[in-house]
Amino acid sequence: MNINSISQNDIKYKKVVLISVVFCYNEYTIVSTQSSLESGEPNMKWLNHLKTINHHKKLVMQHCFRVGLYRQGILHDMSKYSPVELLPGFRYFQGNRSPNDAERKAKGYSSAWLHHKGRNKHHLEYWIDYSPEGDHPLVGNRMPVKYVVEMFCDRMAASKTYRKELYTDRDPFDYYINSKNSYLLHPDTKALLEELLTMLKDQGETATFAYIRKHVLKR
Ligand SMILES: [Zn+2]
Repeated sequence: MNINSISQNDIKYKKVVLISVVFCYNEYTIVSTQSSLESGEPNMKWLNHLKTINHHKKLVMQHCFRVGLYRQGILHDMSKYSPVELLPGFRYFQGNRSPNDAERKAKGYSSAWLHHKGRNKHHLEYWIDYSPEGDHPLVGNRMPVKYVVEMFCDRMAASKTYRKELYTDRDPFDYYINSKNSYLLHPDTKALLEELLTMLKDQGETATFAYIRKHVLKR
């Protein structure tokens, strides 16, 4: 065993410990929030914000696991637990919309979102940069397919949380159509995202996840 293999094992061990701690913490906050709601205690913003993050991560993980993206499923949105994202989240928690919107309204920008989109590759905003061509305008670079799929899983989870029992397979598609004019997306990324959202709307979750597993991630 050389020094390299020791340090590699050490890093792996630390990662496993970190993931286990976050998971136990997730379960703890979900259970403790449920019991605080049941006992009629006043809702605390910080606890509800954690509950929202944990619930969202759980849904995205379920979706990612169904297409075989286990690592991304577990690590999705992990930066939301860093103080720079967590503290504004506690402060601007709304319940019915993103705390980033409230922070933007109050400060003119959202420090939590700027940190988040710079570290999470499943966000199309991560891939925006100056074009090497022409006058070097900002453009959306081509996203690796595995992150387009994670973005698709993320959008499904957000629609399910937002629409609750009214959710149907066409909601993520409708949300995309309403916002697509404000996106900077590479044509290939746009085509794949639209293909998946259309398939979900027309053929449902099971068929779309199977298609992603067999065809999209094998490309
Ligand atoms: Zn995210």
